[in-house]
Amino acid sequence: MSNKTLALDDRLYDYLLSVSLREPDVLARLREETLHRADAEMQIAPEQGQFMALLLKLIGARRSLEVGTFTGYSALVCALALPEDGQLIALDINEETTAIAQRYWAEAGVENKIELRLGPAEDSLRNLIDGGDQGSFDFMFIDADKTGYLTYYEMGLQLLRPGGVLAFDNVLWAGRVADPGAGDDDTQALRALNVQLHADPRVDISMVPIGDGLTLARKLG
Ligand code: SAM
Ligand code: CA
Repeated sequence: MSNKTLALDDRLYDYLLSVSLREPDVLARLREETLHRADAEMQIAPEQGQFMALLLKLIGARRSLEVGTFTGYSALVCALALPEDGQLIALDINEETTAIAQRYWAEAGVENKIELRLGPAEDSLRNLIDGGDQGSFDFMFIDADKTGYLTYYEMGLQLLRPGGVLAFDNVLWAGRVADPGAGDDDTQALRALNVQLHADPRVDISMVPIGDGLTLARKLG
């Protein structure tokens, strides 16, 4: 027994997956294809995807927003969790990786639920705000450039409905956020985000040690 979050060794992690992961075949194939890339570690962990899908269902999400799509795993897992008339807007700047994403979204039959917008996320979020989409999203997943997180957070707060949930990926950054020797821009940006969220009265929060660390922030009414 432990009253502190367990550090998972490989054996326990494999056990966790073996008794809980329900990964649809199309997601497993996307993970397999991405695994061969040099930048494969950008993809979220499968148990994290399953957790996010459950969360979307728990909050009855219909509209979801994603910043940072890569080869499309998180978008696909979320789109599969949305109702038939649900919508996910996916933001990225990379045409090559998102072409892979679109291939799998079509294979899974959810391409009608996902709208990909290519371009710097800040511009796309500004367009959504200026286009009258404030307060219309139930969920937002932030997983792009780490130095942009605080900007995406402020814009996301405008786009979420009261009670809507933001999820910030990589908040533990492989442990570097707690390493005094790590001072690179990304690590500093994630530390600043964590400090900001800890004290921010506009949201309820929980930092969940799943994957590379996922902070959930619920916008207060
Ligand atoms: N969520 C993805 C998944 O589950 O596979 C992984 C996202 S990956 C960690 C980060 C993505 O952010 C990359 O695909 C990159 O092209 C994108 N990105 C980086 N800077 C960006 C920016 N300024 N605007 C939009 N997307 C950006
Ligand atoms: Ca990530």
